[in-house]
Amino acid sequence: MKAEIIAVGTELLLGQISNTNGQWISQEFASIGIPVFQHSVVGDNMKRVEDVFHTAHSRSDVIVVTGGLGPTEDDLTREAAHGVIGQKLIEDQDAMKKIAQFYEKNKQTMTANNRKQALVFEKGRVLPNEEGMAPGQIVEHEGRVWIFLPGVPSEMKSLMKSGVVPYLQRTYNLQSDIVSEMMYFIGIGESTLENKLSALILNQTNPTLAPLASEGEVGLRITATGETGAEARQKISKMKETILQIVGSYYYGSDDVSIESTVRDLLKERGYRLGAAESLTGGQFIEQLITLPGASAVTQGSLVAYTPLMKEKVIGVPPSLIEQYGTISYECAENMVLNAQRILDADVAVSFTGVAGPDSSEGHEPGTVFIGLQIEDKRPYVYHFQFQGGRDKIRSRAVKKGYELIFHHIKDL
Ligand code: ATP
Ligand code: MG
Repeated sequence: MKAEIIAVGTELLLGQISNTNGQWISQEFASIGIPVFQHSVVGDNMKRVEDVFHTAHSRSDVIVVTGGLGPTEDDLTREAAHGVIGQKLIEDQDAMKKIAQFYEKNKQTMTANNRKQALVFEKGRVLPNEEGMAPGQIVEHEGRVWIFLPGVPSEMKSLMKSGVVPYLQRTYNLQSDIVSEMMYFIGIGESTLENKLSALILNQTNPTLAPLASEGEVGLRITATGETGAEARQKISKMKETILQIVGSYYYGSDDVSIESTVRDLLKERGYRLGAAESLTGGQFIEQLITLPGASAVTQGSLVAYTPLMKEKVIGVPPSLIEQYGTISYECAENMVLNAQRILDADVAVSFTGVAGPDSSEGHEPGTVFIGLQIEDKRPYVYHFQFQGGRDKIRSRAVKKGYELIFHHIKDL
């Protein structure tokens, strides 16, 4: 079986939005074992959409089209598909009722264009759209399955889940179940992780392993197939055990977690409250925590001070210390973290001082960052880093590093 996904919309070609529908549908298909061989994006142009549809019809068994089902002139998916499928377009009564009700409720008059959204192929299967106007459709034609879905991602997803996936599973009797887990590691680079796991990666068949580097951390996707979901999950958990024996000390969680949410959970479990003193990160560190639900149980606050004078006034760094060592120093980071812990009455405190760039400061290169860490009444730690990249990257690396350090220091306490 070969599937292909077509996204219709000029805004995609102009780069105004990215084709997240294609990505999402591909993931969904992978998880039910349908191989996707092509993605295309085509603008709102009748001739070009028709061309793409003809090509798809000639080479694929399952063709999913998103977008262009709306009421406006440039929504021409139906008309273009008509050129390939040939079936008559008829008004779907339920969809029509819904559209009429919408206009009645909003006291607007319905135009002829709006009726267009209720048009469906005569022999197609209608997928009622709970979240919008235009229904989705599944049309079987000359041994192909055509699936039409609205462009709006939330509508597309709900129709995929409620209608398309069950239909495909039934029609193609999809037995095998694909399950995957994304494991996250921090404090280890992608290449080191790959090296350490090279024996596993080289011999992979089922499960397969795919490392994925992102800013300051690495993901590792384990994907397994089984006759049932339970069998696939069993394979994953065996593989995971092996992986954890090799690189377990860098592992912080799987799937829907982030390093920030992991730190939040660890703080909560240990009954710790967190405080920060931030210079170059400008509040970004605490923002990452406060953005999470449940932050109030673990967050005291952050002292944000940018200039040397404010480091004195707000964070209480002694002028003599700044004079002797400068603000970008071990000593300043240490003093900041101790003061933050005291002022904010925190169990765990972290401090950030450094040069975000683009210019050097106090004779230090951009990317020079000191991070202080203080846990209860242990001795403070100060780390010195040299991050690469521009201003934004240096600042976000510093924030991520702060979470990484807290994670490594408190996970085994
Ligand atoms: P509507 O009835 O809202 O006009 P439609 O089916 O005609 O729906 P489009 O007009 O093509 O769909 O797209 C509606 C919106 O959905 C777009 O403005 C865009 O924000 C989003 N969208 C469309 N296609 C995609 C896509 N491939 N990936 C992500 N978002 C998309
Ligand atoms: Mg539209």
